[in-house]
Parts: sequence; structure tokens; C-alpha cells
Amino acid sequence: MALWITDECINCDVCEPECPNQAIFMGVEIYEIDASRCTECVGHFAEPQCVQVCPVSCIPVNPACVETAEQLLAKYQRLQADAADSGAAPAAPR
Ligand code: SF4
Ligand code: SF4
Repeated sequence: MALWITDECINCDVCEPECPNQAIFMGVEIYEIDASRCTECVGHFAEPQCVQVCPVSCIPVNPACVETAEQLLAKYQRLQADAADSGAAPAAPR
């Protein structure tokens, strides 16, 4: 599943730079997660980095975006391929 940010977000700016997929962005009122870019950090880290740093624990899984581990890995591989195509250096897997 991709994750999502609830309205308990306090706009502390901590999670956005931690996302290896550039999935987190400032929305109209609070930060939001682009589900098409969130892999739950699969391919990069063992744990979702945004969840690790959020001081108010407002980043649960998105029940509207159920994905298997295989689908998350496929999303990671697509994002890496897109980055390579655009000339940007893809983030190295860890
Ligand atoms: S779980 Fe990982 S990929 Fe998804 S938004 Fe959080 S930091 Fe980004
Ligand atoms: S770390 Fe949590 S509270 Fe801070 S901006 Fe991200 S979602 Fe909002």
C-alpha cells in the first residue's frame, strides 16, 4: 500500500526531504503523498522513512491503495527507469 498523511499533520517539513521517491509534497493545507510514487520505501529502505521521522504519527497506510510487495517493487523499478530516462541519476538501492 502507499501511505497517506492525515489531517493531524502539523506541516513540520521533516518528512518531505526524507522520501527517496519524491512522493511527498505540500498540498493545499498539509503535506500529501502521491500514491503513484510511494513504494512504502521498498527498494530503498527496510522501513518507511516518513513514518520513522513524523513527530505526530500521522502517516498510516492508505486502505484505498492496496499493493503487494511485488507491486511495490515494480513501482520502485518504474520510478528508477523514469528517472534514468529523464537523465536524473536514480537513487541507489540500499
Ligand atoms: S513510505 Fe517512503 S516512499 Fe512512501 S512517502 Fe514515505 S518516505 Fe516516501
Ligand atoms: S513529518 Fe508528519 S507532521 Fe511533519 S510534515 Fe510530515 S506528515 Fe506532517
